[in-house]
Amino acid sequence: MMMNLPEKVSICEVGLRDGLQNEKVIPSTDDKVELLKACIDAGYSVIEVGSFMHPKKVPQMADTDEVIKRIGNVEGVELRALIPNVRGVQRAIDCGCKKVKLNVSASRMHNLKNLNRTPEESVAGFTDCVDLAKKNNIAISGSISMPFASPWEGRTPIEDVDAIIEAYLKVGIDEISLSDASGQAVPNQVYDLCTHVREKYTQASWWLHFHNTRGAAMANILAAMQAGMTQFDTSFGGLGGCPFVPGAAGNISSEDVINMLDEMNIQTGVDVLKVMAISRKVSELLGHGLDSYVLRAGRSKDLIASQTE
Ligand code: ZN
Repeated sequence: MMMNLPEKVSICEVGLRDGLQNEKVIPSTDDKVELLKACIDAGYSVIEVGSFMHPKKVPQMADTDEVIKRIGNVEGVELRALIPNVRGVQRAIDCGCKKVKLNVSASRMHNLKNLNRTPEESVAGFTDCVDLAKKNNIAISGSISMPFASPWEGRTPIEDVDAIIEAYLKVGIDEISLSDASGQAVPNQVYDLCTHVREKYTQASWWLHFHNTRGAAMANILAAMQAGMTQFDTSFGGLGGCPFVPGAAGNISSEDVINMLDEMNIQTGVDVLKVMAISRKVSELLGHGLDSYVLRAGRSKDLIASQTE
């Protein structure tokens, strides 16, 4: 079978943000700094470190500023943080964070209910964030959560996704993440939407963010690669969830994805053994097991070695 596959892909480790933000036990700032150092050492060139949400709303991320300050600038590594509004950009400036990411839900109902505006109106309101970020040499990207489907409305109409993408491009954001936060996407739909957006908006750079709530995340990554996508978010140990989505499970596990890509000869630049060590450490810190196949079964590469010993 001839598969259309990339030679290399970029993986963004989101465990420190998407993973830890749903945990009851909050690791100390020291522990977070150590985890971040370990992620950098494992070879990640993009890491989502945390978010600048209100500390009362997301107490798990209250020390993101401090974590970034302590690490400082690392050559060749992009440390990004999620922001809700212009105050988030100001916090990024104050702590030296060079990359921020906004988010909007593609679900009209969800957006109207929670923010009293359409998703496009939300995005149009990001102008002040873009202005302040660009003035301070901070790169800014945007995420669309639930562009495939939402728990409230089912399949998301493609025109709705187009409207949000166009709103992002209009305010000057051309790096866009499609985030299946509710884990409802399926491969043929992923292939179709990815193909559509790549063809229609050639100026944009895309990230894909899959949760493994119904076990389809790996298949979705493959479908996205088939459609030409090369940038994916993953989380150590498959940690994560979504506070708004009933029964949401974690992100697809970093080590599972990297192991698969290694075996497919697709380069990630990330050392899967080091990621597995990070996941073991995270499991220890949080006091519970993690949702990762490779952590349980080991790499397939190591099977032969262990048999001939
Ligand atoms: Zn997520």
